[in-house]
Amino acid sequence: MFRDKLQRFMLGRYGSDNCNRFLLIVALVLLVLSMLLRSQLLSLLAWVLVLLAWFRMFSRNIARRRQENVLYLRYHEQVRRYLAYQRSRWRDRKTHRYFSCPRCHAHLRVPKGRGRISIRCNRCGHEFERKT
Ligand SMILES: [Zn+2]
Repeated sequence: MFRDKLQRFMLGRYGSDNCNRFLLIVALVLLVLSMLLRSQLLSLLAWVLVLLAWFRMFSRNIARRRQENVLYLRYHEQVRRYLAYQRSRWRDRKTHRYFSCPRCHAHLRVPKGRGRISIRCNRCGHEFERKT
């Protein structure tokens, strides 16, 4: 009975996606922080995010919401890659140096302590000299 009503209500509405899950997780973290720090501003911010997630969930403009989710996923992937890069830089800090290619900005990893060497970019083939 209730399930039927809910299903009918959600008919033609967007529902949840990765972007909404992210918004709700951030909202939850902000709510916990707002309680710990007794900050009304953080709590207000958390509720704004919750309302935004609800708005997106019940929205009938499915095309627009999908577009937002694609944007969100793209941004999420960029952040994930950046963090993975920083992690490997930190892991190899004693044995390797990282350079970015002056032409195509690809990240290049070379062994440390070889003096001044010529580095060849394995994406675009550009060669440049750096001290390792
Ligand atoms: Zn290059």
